[in-house]
This record gives sequence, structure tokens and C-alpha cells, in this order.
Amino acid sequence: MSDHHHSHSLERCCALMAQLNDYLDGELPPDLCAELDAHLADCPDCQVVLDTLGKTVQIVRTLDLTPPELPADVEARLLARLGLTAGTTGHTTWGQHR
Ligand SMILES: [Zn+2]
Repeated sequence: MSDHHHSHSLERCCALMAQLNDYLDGELPPDLCAELDAHLADCPDCQVVLDTLGKTVQIVRTLDLTPPELPADVEARLLARLGLTAGTTGHTTWGQHR
């Protein structure tokens, strides 16, 4: 017997939508998270909402956090310094050649 129980109710969508922020923040309890995942797999409407909301959250976070990025010259100097010590394999260049 195939009791096709397609539990697609708007009420359920709304309830899960309310959790989306926590879901995106990773603060949703694992069981609720799994429930939301399961629903999303079956509900295109919620997928769109999650996609849109997820992008928005990412943008907001990017603007808010501004991840530290090494300036090119600092990185070059760092690499040069590392290259200097790493390039002295088996041969000491500490002796001053005049
Ligand atoms: Zn839904």
C-alpha cells in the first residue's frame, strides 16, 4: 500500500522558515537541523528562500567582518624571508663574503 503522504503544508514551511536564521548561523539543534534539511530536499519553495537568505547573510557577514587579507608586499616579504631561511639547505650563508 502506498500511502503517499506528501506533507507539504504552508504551516510547516512557515515554522521552518522561522528557524532559517539559526540554521544559517549553525545554532540550530541537530535534530531540528536534520528536519529542516529533510523538508528542504522536498520543498522547492523553501530552497529558494534558503538560497536567497543564505546569500544575504553571506553578504552581510562579508561587510561586517571584512576578513584580514595580507597586502601583497607584506606577503612577498614574508615569503622572501621564509625563502631565505629555507634556501640555506646544507649551505650556510651566514658567512659574510666581501
Ligand atoms: Zn517548505
